[in-house]
Amino acid sequence: MNIHEYQARELFEKFGVATSKGHVASTPEEAEKAAAAIGGSNLVVKAQIHAGGRGKGTFTNGFQGGVKLVHTPTEARDIASKMLGHALVTKQTGPEGRVVNKVFIAEAVDISRELYIAILVDRATSAPMIIASTEGGMDIETVAEHTPEKIFHVSVDPLLGLQPFQTRKIAANLGLRGPLMTQASKLFTALYRTFIESDCSMVEINPLVVTPDGRLLALDAKFNFDDNALYRQPAIVAMRDKEEEDPREVAASEFNLNYIGLDGNIACLVNGAGLAMATMDIVQFAGGKPANFLDVGGGATKDQVCAAFKIILSDKNVEGILVNIFGGIMDCNVIANGIVEAAREVGLKLPLVVRLEGNNVEAGKKTLSESGLTIISASTLADAAQKIVAAVKAA
Ligand code: ADP
Ligand code: MG
Repeated sequence: MNIHEYQARELFEKFGVATSKGHVASTPEEAEKAAAAIGGSNLVVKAQIHAGGRGKGTFTNGFQGGVKLVHTPTEARDIASKMLGHALVTKQTGPEGRVVNKVFIAEAVDISRELYIAILVDRATSAPMIIASTEGGMDIETVAEHTPEKIFHVSVDPLLGLQPFQTRKIAANLGLRGPLMTQASKLFTALYRTFIESDCSMVEINPLVVTPDGRLLALDAKFNFDDNALYRQPAIVAMRDKEEEDPREVAASEFNLNYIGLDGNIACLVNGAGLAMATMDIVQFAGGKPANFLDVGGGATKDQVCAAFKIILSDKNVEGILVNIFGGIMDCNVIANGIVEAAREVGLKLPLVVRLEGNNVEAGKKTLSESGLTIISASTLADAAQKIVAAVKAA
């Protein structure tokens, strides 16, 4: 799960990570009021979407830049009206962009240096890893490609936590000395607490800035949370913005299905993530393009299968469906009943290839054959992939 920058700043305030002052707004009038409340003549208006690269983005109405400097509340209102309700296209959004429903109005600060810091879970060490760089304000991927020597890594022992000698080492690597080192140690410690106590899988500050008057501030923030820990993070769950998510994925998550939308034309309904990956590969190999990854899990119910079926059918690009089930724990007849119910409810007209194998397969096949639905049955995975590709071509 991701959150918006304005929500990230709320977490920063809660944990004591220094940031610039700001308020969120949903209308141009609110933006004007927020600007007046913050005061001063240097403010930024920032489009709130779940994607980075906003500063260099373009709105679909032609307006340039999702991070804009303004000097008066009236100007803040005008800029907000150019952003709100329009889609912002950045390097991370894809060509359709993301519609901006909120803007964040913040105090603009003078910047002497832009730095980068992130904490993530490192799979190699199974421990939190801090990544820092003197090259803030740009993509860390670009820095990693061209000047990898400007990136520092510090691995944190999860039982000991982030140690003072480590915060000083990161600060020194970033060229932060004297009072700035003291501020940095405090900020890194607070950031580490935010990361641990909020069950993050990643938190990133880009840029972390040094101001000419010697302050260290987080000006942007990105969070990823571990979905498996959300059950104990109700305050984080409350920050979820479903409008930022693929509606098919939102529906799938309500039924505890592992669904990822893709842009092909052959929908796949599979049990088990490994089998789902193999199915997508073999569809591709047979000359088709998968429309989704969908793992209904090991112990899916009829309702879940039915919901899964409807979600894959809600995708207009889908021209055919491949069901590939290996019943280990899964009862093939449960899948068969789910398919029949969903197909009847939605009046299925697309070609449907089903390959069932394993636990209670005979009952499953009987349910399908007695249903009166037109189902192409397949014996092996390769056979199933070839049949759905051929059926879609013929349709
Ligand atoms: P994004 O990463 O999505 O482009 P940022 O919040 O990082 O958005 O903003 C882009 C750039 O705008 C920053 O690298 C920084 O130079 C500038 N900026 C952002 N917020 C402020 C602020 N409050 N004051 C001054 N400059 C800012
Ligand atoms: Mg940024």
